[in-house]
Amino acid sequence: MTQDQWGSIRNELHQTMGANSFQSWIEPLIYVGTDGGIARFNVPTNFLGNYVSQNYGDMLLSKITRMNPSVRRIVFDTVTVSQDAPAQRKEAADATGAPLAVPQVHTKSSAKPDSLNGSPLDKRFTFDTFVVGKPNELAHAAARRVAEGGPVTFNPLFLYGGVGLGKTHLMHAIAWELRTRHPHLNVLNLSAEQFMYRFVQALRDRKMMDFKELFRSVDVLMVDDVQFIAGKDSTQEEFFHTFNALVDQHKQIIISADRAPDEIKDLENRIRSRLQSGLVVDLHPTDYELRLGILQSKSEMYSRMYPGLEVERGILEFLAARIVSNVRILEGALTRLFAFASLVGKPISMDLTQECLTDILRVSERKVSIEEIQRKVADHYLIRHSDLVGPKRVRTFARPRQIAMYLCKQLTTRSLPEIGRHFGGRDHTTVMHGVRRIEELRKQDAQIAEDVELLRRSLEA
Ligand code: ADP
Ligand code: MG
Repeated sequence: MTQDQWGSIRNELHQTMGANSFQSWIEPLIYVGTDGGIARFNVPTNFLGNYVSQNYGDMLLSKITRMNPSVRRIVFDTVTVSQDAPAQRKEAADATGAPLAVPQVHTKSSAKPDSLNGSPLDKRFTFDTFVVGKPNELAHAAARRVAEGGPVTFNPLFLYGGVGLGKTHLMHAIAWELRTRHPHLNVLNLSAEQFMYRFVQALRDRKMMDFKELFRSVDVLMVDDVQFIAGKDSTQEEFFHTFNALVDQHKQIIISADRAPDEIKDLENRIRSRLQSGLVVDLHPTDYELRLGILQSKSEMYSRMYPGLEVERGILEFLAARIVSNVRILEGALTRLFAFASLVGKPISMDLTQECLTDILRVSERKVSIEEIQRKVADHYLIRHSDLVGPKRVRTFARPRQIAMYLCKQLTTRSLPEIGRHFGGRDHTTVMHGVRRIEELRKQDAQIAEDVELLRRSLEA
């Protein structure tokens, strides 16, 4: 996001928030810049950072991502000028009654990495609020296991998946759970960027011994978005040593990344193989059922926030079918829908939904067509399009045909009869049978599961 873009968001907020709130909460934010999908703001006190993040965080993020879709997160850095930051910090935490919610950035005079505050834990990111479906059940189960805090069985746990599929949510959920079950454990959750930042800071201030000591004293280390250390050689090196030291002490490590270890470029091989040495699980792109589940759970939450406003199941189904994107977009759509309806004082109808979400729905609409799916599947299995949709029932054609039907059901909003028509005029029951067959086979046959995933990813790319 450019300073200009931030300027126009500020102007907009000035109009909509009212002068008082604007002056108290938005004016003091100093936009620093965006890097690696993170928009950074400097704030004068922890309290302010805390408050803004809790009360305006979502709203700011949605405005920013509308300007600049590459932004995925906002971070508020407290820039303290005084030496007695710890005291202030305590005050801030007391004042809000909440755990510290912004990472501390000291000015040079107090740059010693004196504590191990990691990323703030998001209150909403718990296991209770995490909706489990086929695409994330494995990752969820693994996270649950690690969160029990028993003997370390797989180390590290490596979670990966595309943007907005719940990696950070799961990491925070693990941290929350460990905090309650094992309050004595020293759990550190931070992003790879923060790790790098601290490392560079320690180098600069010649505090490497402290740095090493601190990191080696944690019981559970979680590093989010580890792909960011790729290419940063000395950080990688240090990470590797930290990693090994903790594994040797049987301390649990949990890592997330936006792709599998072997797909992260510019990563040293010894680190790559270390990362693969535990349990590697991925969060798959959402499917219709999961999207519907998430929409249901979030809309119940919103209904409590906006008394009197509810979304009918039919509308949720419509959204689950039409917004085939990540969970963050799905959430954004609901947030907007409720805010819009409450603003105009109308119930959430289909018309209102379509009006309010035109842009999101339009983007989803041109996502994938049946023709595209058929072409990709035929190419993938090296068969002709005419055989894919033709009458022949041999396995070499029938299986790809069923996979194509399955993908049409998953990725488009076409009805079963419509899909049937595109497959040589087949009946909707045939399509349904095909879809079910692939659903079963995905569980039993790793090759099919992989093919489907590969095709889906390339279609959604
Ligand atoms: P990632 O770290 O993978 O980019 P996040 O964990 O930040 O994604 O998730 C993006 C948003 O979607 C968060 O608000 C999170 O709570 C929500 N989310 C993702 N997956 C789920 C899920 N299965 N159930 C409920 N909310 C989810
Ligand atoms: Mg994340």
